[in-house]
Amino acid sequence: MATLTDAKRLVVKIGSALLVDRATGALRDDWLRALALDVQWLKGQGTQVVLVSSGSIALGRGVLGLPATDLPLEQSQAAAAVGQIRLARAYEDVMALHGITTAQVLMTLEDSRDRRRYLNSRATLETLLALDALPIVNENDTVATDEIRFGDNDRLAAQIAATIGADQLVLLSDVDGFYSANPSDDPSAIRYNVIDEITAKIEAQAGDAGSGLSKGGMKTKLMAAKTATAAGCAMAICHGFDPRPLQRLHNGAPATWFSATLDPQTARKRWIAAMKPRGTLTLDAGATLALENGNSLLPAGITAVAGDFKRGDPVAIADPSGHVLGLGLARYTAEETRTIQGHHSARIETLLGYPGRAALVHRDDMAL
Ligand code: GLU
Repeated sequence: MATLTDAKRLVVKIGSALLVDRATGALRDDWLRALALDVQWLKGQGTQVVLVSSGSIALGRGVLGLPATDLPLEQSQAAAAVGQIRLARAYEDVMALHGITTAQVLMTLEDSRDRRRYLNSRATLETLLALDALPIVNENDTVATDEIRFGDNDRLAAQIAATIGADQLVLLSDVDGFYSANPSDDPSAIRYNVIDEITAKIEAQAGDAGSGLSKGGMKTKLMAAKTATAAGCAMAICHGFDPRPLQRLHNGAPATWFSATLDPQTARKRWIAAMKPRGTLTLDAGATLALENGNSLLPAGITAVAGDFKRGDPVAIADPSGHVLGLGLARYTAEETRTIQGHHSARIETLLGYPGRAALVHRDDMAL
């Protein structure tokens, strides 16, 4: 079973019901202050932390005098616009007390569906983590329309965990785990400690209960678990309402852990390896050797470009004799690649007329 302090990279999802008092619509300051202690504790252990926080709609609706019922889309978007700015400020203030720099990241579903945008958000999150900032992610509710919304931050959090190759995801929730039936109407319901495989039986046991302020019921949590575990990330559902929920989880508070069988790196490599290439890059001997030694692919080592691909598309990578070494996600289009092939990365901006990334295929985006 996973333990929290094993995580190198941890995503924590915070539900609206934890942050915002249901009756008054006010921020639960004490809870947030205690959460900051949890984050400080984990960062102090060397864990990289990303928060995915709901609460913008719940906070904004009170300010705007909107009811605590399901709002029409345009009203919830207006509430999110008002609430998100407050939410961000609250996090910034409370984390600053511990010298933690916060970063606001607003995402839409398209950012994970479109591979170019996916690579972009991945690069930004990686950079924030490398700079020791605390990314605080929410859905960009103000612009996302109904058809293209995640709609619930459980799935958004799982997508983020998969995007950055997190090894653990914790959903802080108003329930303490996954039950065999809905415990509020079935006294015989039992909570699972560990779920190694999401079977049809488990799926059938996920009712559809959601609490008043958040959208995610057990079904969406199970969908999140599938996304996370397929990406090599273990996922926990635990109760988050009381102060220091992460330390509680670490100390053995009730929870359900969904196990991951692969590690994130292997899962990502398999995901890339299963793609259909849109083109082929042929390398010189030097670049072939550099790749075998675990380096990224730079434009300088490319001797030929075949096919037509966009940024983020999978391409085959071949050695000088044409033997395919593996697959990778290209950070430039085929046309751009033809312009910069054989050139030093420092010349990219001059050749293209705009700056770009030094590597054509980053080593993390390669399956050899
Ligand atoms: N993005 C929404 C908010 O911040 C929450 C979605 C959810 O409840 O999961 O209010």
